[in-house]
Amino acid sequence: MYRTVEATRDLLPDEIGPWQTCEDTARSLFRCYGFREIRTPIFEFTELFARSVGEQTDIVSKEMYTFTDRGGRSLTLRPEGTAPAVRAFVQRRIHRSEDLTRWYYTGPMFRYERKQKGRFRQFFQIGAEVLGADSPVVDVETIEMVLHYLTALGVSGMRLHLNSVGCRACRPPYTDLLRQVLDPQIGSYCKDCQRRFETNVLRVLDCKVDVDRAAGLPVLVEHLCDACGEHFAAVRDGLASLGVEFDLAPRLVRGLDYYVRTAFEVTASGLGAQNALVGGGRYDGLVSQLGGPDVPGFGFALGLDRLVMILPEEAGKSPVADIHLVVVGSEAMRRARQLATRLRHAGLIAALDVTQRSVKAQMRAAARSGARHTLVIGENELSAGRATLRRLEDGVEAEFALDALAELVEEIRHAGSR
Ligand code: AMP
Repeated sequence: MYRTVEATRDLLPDEIGPWQTCEDTARSLFRCYGFREIRTPIFEFTELFARSVGEQTDIVSKEMYTFTDRGGRSLTLRPEGTAPAVRAFVQRRIHRSEDLTRWYYTGPMFRYERKQKGRFRQFFQIGAEVLGADSPVVDVETIEMVLHYLTALGVSGMRLHLNSVGCRACRPPYTDLLRQVLDPQIGSYCKDCQRRFETNVLRVLDCKVDVDRAAGLPVLVEHLCDACGEHFAAVRDGLASLGVEFDLAPRLVRGLDYYVRTAFEVTASGLGAQNALVGGGRYDGLVSQLGGPDVPGFGFALGLDRLVMILPEEAGKSPVADIHLVVVGSEAMRRARQLATRLRHAGLIAALDVTQRSVKAQMRAAARSGARHTLVIGENELSAGRATLRRLEDGVEAEFALDALAELVEEIRHAGSR
């Protein structure tokens, strides 16, 4: 028997409801904030991720699904969505026609990570990018949109963690300082931190193993340059003025190299150890780094797999049939088929039972599927030209002429809106 590859999975129809709710809600809500959808290829040249996400990051150094195609080119299944979006922005020269670009995307991402609860090798993200403004208003609006979105879906126990990771002016002197402080003690840190000390020293701050020790290290927010300090203050004020609560998280650094200034994460309860639901921040140098003009950017990505895990149960239940047509005999099937088609054209979910089993067995199947009504069509109904609609919830019945479609639709709709 063939099986799915480790840490990947099928999403069966019974499981898909909450996914669709999340996607539909994102579409309608993000539109109110001026975001439009972009779809980029699932794979890109490896170089794109190496240059943007960063050679030394965990993602690029050990998690990418990289392969060589028949033309000998090194390609990679996208591990994240920002680099492809920025690549598209540069390649299509969007800045020439738009002052401010707001894009969102949704789709699968691929990372060879250790398998654990809430962590997959193919996982799904919804993300958004704002390109063209370094104003803190963009940071505030976009963060507020994420929280609005999660609230609209009924997510509870969320926390916004906020930090500033400085810029190319103030980060290097700070990392020098951090190295100096760490140098005499790094030997006693975990293996990963010892490696990070050499390659990406900021990441030592958010080590999950050496949490207590990292707590004593100097933090970047206390070494921001004036411009970054002002920007961060404006973000905090802006959020506060919208009533958005946040926790300052001075040790929050993101695992991708391109972030500057604002960095944030949203966590939610009920997720266990992998409790990060959204990650994002500002990436002002990325567009030019990828060969484009000097256009600032801000964005986030939200993990759909994790969001679905904590969605309230009523969100995204799979739809059930409005009516289950129980059919006996071939002539009745002909008539029932026409009726089912008309009901579907009227926007109702009509299930046509094609099994030709006993009425009892078909009724049982209807009840099991959660259908809201049944309508039996057999020889008697054909000769009378009438059939009985039964509401399964309470057994109430009503008789209809088989050609009085409008009345039937009306009754079913009415029952559905109660
Ligand atoms: P990142 O792109 O690493 O900033 O991640 C953004 C969000 O995507 C995280 O907060 C998670 O919710 C989700 N995410 C990242 N990696 C995985 C994974 N391997 N499996 C499931 N969700 C993930």
